[in-house]
Amino acid sequence: MRKISILGATGSIGQSTIDLIRRDSSAYDVVALTGGANIARLAEDAISLNADLAVTAYPDRLEELRAALAGTNVEVAAGQQALIEAAERPADWIMSAIVGAAGLAPGLAALRQGTTLALANKESLVCAGALLLDTARAHNARILPVDSEHSAIFQGLVGEDMSAVERIIITASGGALRDWPLEKLAGATLEQAMHHPNWDMGQRITIDSASMFNKAMEVIETREYFGVSPEQIEVLVHPESMVHALVGFCDGAIMAHLGAPDMRHAIGYALYWPDRRDLPVERLDLARIGQLNFATPDPARFPALGLAYRVMSRGGMMGAVFNGAKERALDHFIAGKIGFLEMASIVEHVLDHFEDQSGLIDDAMTLDNVLRIDHLARQRADMVMTKQTG
Ligand code: NDP
Repeated sequence: MRKISILGATGSIGQSTIDLIRRDSSAYDVVALTGGANIARLAEDAISLNADLAVTAYPDRLEELRAALAGTNVEVAAGQQALIEAAERPADWIMSAIVGAAGLAPGLAALRQGTTLALANKESLVCAGALLLDTARAHNARILPVDSEHSAIFQGLVGEDMSAVERIIITASGGALRDWPLEKLAGATLEQAMHHPNWDMGQRITIDSASMFNKAMEVIETREYFGVSPEQIEVLVHPESMVHALVGFCDGAIMAHLGAPDMRHAIGYALYWPDRRDLPVERLDLARIGQLNFATPDPARFPALGLAYRVMSRGGMMGAVFNGAKERALDHFIAGKIGFLEMASIVEHVLDHFEDQSGLIDDAMTLDNVLRIDHLARQRADMVMTKQTG
């Protein structure tokens, strides 16, 4: 039996992973499931999957989790250290699907045990790509991409030599507000940003899709995973979300990956890799779809994308600044304290502030340093917000 753990089991990616596991549950020995506030879901899945351990990120929810699992054999724990310990429990395959920088320390802990890490938590790669990749190398661990674009690129590169890759194109649905004019975007509400046309995802990534911060993070992810230069990475708006990414080679050929917008494609590919298995996803009927559209993203309406290129050109730990500021700006948008476009302007101001702080940004990329910068970037984002909102 294959030992597996799911970090962020109660979320959108975690639940899609569990859906695949359940279809073949006798093949898996579930070691640990982790969640946050959704105690009922965590407990129910821990029981039905016969998990050894269930962990909530929040210590004040431990008693509730303990009560929900009373009379079962499932161990319970809570808090940041418990998340790390869950990731350290020996497992052959671990899904990293906690949202935000909170996924970084558990992801690193999983890699240190030399396992296969299926990485959905893009924030950890944006914050500390080199640290994750070095940790994987040092411990003989493997990282498999779960973001649909990066899974698509990964699949497009099978059997190829990276030196023959000319460019990588990732597609963006454009999110809920794709066709809104700039003047209207300023007034976009949380509810409007949450109406994603194609993908059913967690709240934060859905809003990041509308602002294109999600795509900005994916551009940085592409650089980290595949080692290409920023100039080799392009973004195309593709409203149908059926072509997930394209790899262009030196002979002019382009390999495109197509599939229905369902995360179980990318999760299943990482789960069964290097094999392919039958997946319970819709098959594309291209004749029925008829046409696929592509366009260049508008930099004025989606300034987040430009910020990603700035982060990559600055290098060092600028990714941690970018992600911390973005997460905080998103918190403020969700709380109704700032407008939609202010998210990008706050992040831009925070980047301005840290860009020349070479002692900080160019320090060694350790977990402590990344978390320190993440904390400082969030503080700075708060200060900028206070100034902007008067
Ligand atoms: P969700 O918000 O649906 O789920 C997030 C998970 O993380 C939940 O289990 C949540 O627990 C848990 N969590 C929240 N806060 C913390 C914390 N501070 N510490 C530990 N655990 C926490 O997110 P998604 O599933 O949408 O996304 C997960 C990751 O995958 C993100 O990094 C996202 O960018 C990435 N991703 C998601 C895609 C998607 O289609 N959803 C596509 C590609 C990448 P609880 O809900 O119990 O509070």
